[in-house]
Formats: sequence, structure tokens, C-alpha cells
Amino acid sequence: MREFEGSDRFKRCLYCSKELSGRKDKKYCDQHCRAASNNQVKKNSENSIYQTILRYLKMNRKVLSKFNKGGVTTIEAELLINEGFDPNVFTHFGESQDGEWSRFCFEFEFSNFIEFGREKFRIVKH
Ligand SMILES: [Zn+2]
Repeated sequence: MREFEGSDRFKRCLYCSKELSGRKDKKYCDQHCRAASNNQVKKNSENSIYQTILRYLKMNRKVLSKFNKGGVTTIEAELLINEGFDPNVFTHFGESQDGEWSRFCFEFEFSNFIEFGREKFRIVKH
């Protein structure tokens, strides 16, 4: 519908594409089309935030399960990150076995630490 925006002769409603009459700066037929259009934009952006976070979570879970088939694993942070893991995206905080609060991605608990100057992750499958 955007292609109609530039033309003065055939100005069309940005929502329903009907030809517009009246004021030159008019963008919609009426307040109904304006509201419907605003709702659509809002819905699309909500969906895209949801889809993006879901994509990150799925990727994180995939990477964590690749390196941890069960029990406890320790792995170089670089390896996880290179596979597409993002430690900033997780599902919840949960209590680890040693009583600390830890980040979880679904059934995988993960925490980072430094060992011999290198960042590592400990992954626990619950
Ligand atoms: Zn309209």
C-alpha cells in the first residue's frame, strides 16, 4: 500500500487503499482505518519481539543440548558463543545444586566463571 503515498493525484488510504478525497495531508479514510492501521502496526511489532526472543531461546537450547547430553559439562565460553549462544537470553532464574541463583534456558542451567584466565560455562541438565 505504500506505493500510493508519493502520488498527489491518487492519494490512497494507508490502510484500505481506497482513494482519498479532501485534505491533501490525509492518510486514512476515517478514524476507523486510522485505528485499524495503528493496531496492525502494534500487533506486528509485538509479534516480532515475541518471535525474536523465541528464536534466541530455541538457539540457546539447541547449543546447550549439543554440549550437554546429560549431567554436568564445563565448556569454553568462546565455543558456545561461536555456535550462536547468547547468555543474555534465558527463560528464568532457578536455584542450582549449591544453593546459588542461576540462569536457566528451559531444562538447562548455565553459569559462567573464569578458570586460568579463560571464561567458561558450566551447563547442568535438569
Ligand atoms: Zn481506509
